[in-house]
Amino acid sequence: MKLNKQQREQLKQKYGGRCAYCGNLLPDRWHADHVEPIVRNWTNGTCERPENNRIDNFNPSCSSCNIVKNSLSLEGFRQLIGGFIKSLNRDSTQYKFAKRYGLVSEVPTEVTFFFETYGNP
Ligand SMILES: [Zn+2]
Repeated sequence: MKLNKQQREQLKQKYGGRCAYCGNLLPDRWHADHVEPIVRNWTNGTCERPENNRIDNFNPSCSSCNIVKNSLSLEGFRQLIGGFIKSLNRDSTQYKFAKRYGLVSEVPTEVTFFFETYGNP
């Protein structure tokens, strides 16, 4: 569904003008993410799960979170981000050097999305 201007503004303010996932302030250009994906078929314009195209299934998202989340569920997105450490340690020489020299350190924690703690002290 295409949100009208008022719906879009309400969605933007859902978490205080911040991305539901990373918590960064939303810039002028941001995305309305389907929390449970609709799985677009870009070749013919259809979607596999049209039942998820509901206003209560939207989260405001910065473009990078929305692009990385793509057609993943919330838990799939969480697992993907959690796996970034593994691929950095495997593939990134710069990351491994920065870690070796104490410039970065890893913490054993679960990925928590901004909206999951929004409004909680
Ligand atoms: Zn974000």
